[in-house]
Amino acid sequence: MTRHAVTLIPGDGVGPEITDATVRVLEATGVAFDWDVQQAGENVMARYGTPLPDHVLQSIKERGVALKGPITTPVGTGFRSVNVALRQELDLYACVRPIKAYPGARNLRDDLDLVVIRENSEDIYAGIEFQQGTPECSQAIEEISRLANRRIKPDSGLSIKPISVTGSERIVQFAFDYARRYGRRKVTLVHKANIMKHTDGLFLAVGREVAARNPDIAFEDRIVDNMCMQLVLRPSEYDVLCCPNLYGDIISDLGAGMIGGLGLAPGANIGTVGAVFEATHGSAPRYTGQNRVNPMALMLSGVLMLRHLGETAAADGLEQAIADVIREGRSVTYDMKERRDDPTAVGTSQVADAIVERLRAAAVP
Ligand code: NAD
Repeated sequence: MTRHAVTLIPGDGVGPEITDATVRVLEATGVAFDWDVQQAGENVMARYGTPLPDHVLQSIKERGVALKGPITTPVGTGFRSVNVALRQELDLYACVRPIKAYPGARNLRDDLDLVVIRENSEDIYAGIEFQQGTPECSQAIEEISRLANRRIKPDSGLSIKPISVTGSERIVQFAFDYARRYGRRKVTLVHKANIMKHTDGLFLAVGREVAARNPDIAFEDRIVDNMCMQLVLRPSEYDVLCCPNLYGDIISDLGAGMIGGLGLAPGANIGTVGAVFEATHGSAPRYTGQNRVNPMALMLSGVLMLRHLGETAAADGLEQAIADVIREGRSVTYDMKERRDDPTAVGTSQVADAIVERLRAAAVP
């Protein structure tokens, strides 16, 4: 049997609890893992002088796959978010966020099954910003006003939105490859090209070229505002959505809300040297150590990881076991109940117990 070498980053806040629960269900599928446990975040600052030591990056580069709990970004300490740093250092340019309604969850509608693919490295999130009132900002305003022949109010702040041909090409190609690998039929490119002709317009033009090279998968585009409305009204018409950074961020949270909230929203960040699987939610610090939060978002990220590793049968089995526990509605956490103070809600580890039990029962011939 293949053993998979995977970097395991428990994270902080509720990270260690949900990671522990996820490791238990992953191992109960029968797939063998060699976990390389690595710590990152504020807790390692004193020891290594950085929240993201080189050996953590090295571990992921060597193994190519990581499962990661959330990591807190302390406010006002000046340290860069470990989550953002990981994406940059490993060039994890594609963020994959499935939006799938499991019967029994607090879904807005039950016919949701799409995947948002968000470009992770460019756009208005590239971090090129000028603070209002600084000499650099004034200089940039002057220069841009001159070049564009447009007046920018001198008391403005600026954020720059770069979208490149190479960045667009690789994310759209990624969307087609993803669609092909996972048997999906259509890629919808999301943009606002009618207004931002030289960034979103470029994204769309490059997207059309890439689509022409991938004729086996259908392609269409939607303007982002219309896309949001379509998602609420006619989600079954969509399959894989390929979005620049900002729209992808917003649409994937809209999607998370439609499938019952953050506790059920999995994710993956994928690049050329590695893939990091993590829930969409953060470290929920006020729940730390309480055995309360929902581990299913990280477990479903584990399902994505199993598929990425080619362990399709184990992925199907784990997804089915999670879906069964959701449908049954007994061993679920507070966030999946109608009322948050429902006394019948169970804890994080009891959810894992119920899923492990299902997996064991399914494995008995
Ligand atoms: P959060 O996602 O941690 O929590 C917001 C609220 O959502 C929680 O208070 C809780 O009510 C609910 N929630 C989140 N996860 C849940 C779960 N699994 N089950 C049930 N309810 C859940 O967002 P935040 O409070 O804005 O961020 C906390 C910290 O996490 C910040 O430091 C932030 O920077 C960090 N963060 C990390 C990541 C990451 O590691 N990738 C992502 C987002 C935020």
